[in-house]
Amino acid sequence: MIRHMPHEDHGPAHGWDLHCHTVYSDGTKTPAEMIASAVASGLHGLAITDHDTTAGWADAAAAARRAGLPILRGTEITAADGDISVHMLAYQYDPDNTAITELFRATRAARLERAKRMVARLSEDFPIDWHSVLRQAKQGEKTTVGRPHMADALVEAGVYATRSEAFAGVISGASKYYIPTPSPSTDEVVRTVREAGGVSVIAHPGDRGRNTTLLGDGRIRALAGEGLGGLEVWHRGNADDQRRRLLGLADELGLLVTGGSDWHGAGKPNRLGENLTGDATVREIVARGAIEVVG
Ligand SMILES: [Zn+2]
Ligand SMILES: [Zn+2]
Repeated sequence: MIRHMPHEDHGPAHGWDLHCHTVYSDGTKTPAEMIASAVASGLHGLAITDHDTTAGWADAAAAARRAGLPILRGTEITAADGDISVHMLAYQYDPDNTAITELFRATRAARLERAKRMVARLSEDFPIDWHSVLRQAKQGEKTTVGRPHMADALVEAGVYATRSEAFAGVISGASKYYIPTPSPSTDEVVRTVREAGGVSVIAHPGDRGRNTTLLGDGRIRALAGEGLGGLEVWHRGNADDQRRRLLGLADELGLLVTGGSDWHGAGKPNRLGENLTGDATVREIVARGAIEVVG
């Protein structure tokens, strides 16, 4: 078991960046560009963690082998814990495991259904329909149709001048047309990732910028009992008081402590490697995981 010093409030100076997005979700760089940046900045390795998909894993693995940089393969899964939206990082699981492929399939189907219902509500009062919304999804089949596409259809129809005006208007979370995005529960994600041989880590658990209500100690203890692997303590969204709280919980519950930049390329100010995970913790994730490190 890895022990953590309770007074420690900064992540390791060297190590791995275990939270990185590419063009396979909402990042702006390809896996190969990400890996080249990681090599240039002297990272020991990184994890690809695009939202709700393994679509970038093959590209990332090929680039890692070419560059000789080891990588973990992972996914940032959007989950729900009651009314709280929780991001969960899942590492080194078997992508062909039926429990996890079914979880992703059911989530995609529920989100598609939600998008159709929300567009149906909007189409009663605005000149858009499912076809005009679908037309905005430039990546076709691979895209999860959502509010950005509804916004673009409203702009195309002349209802708004820009996408952000639409987001502030009839597709905002406060609008009567809005329907929340369906997500699997945190318990379901922890159980399913464990079943698929992977390690689950709660991403940025102390980020008040994302959630006015944070996941409480009691829920973190319950998830630890169900097989949660760790907490992402070293993340720019966690304030110092939250880092201390999370380190205390990790120590009490024997959870791994990870760090990551939440890099999105040019899409966000986060710098690759600005927060890191220590080598010993990465070795532990690999030892527990179902798949090999590549690179
Ligand atoms: Zn996140
Ligand atoms: Zn992220």
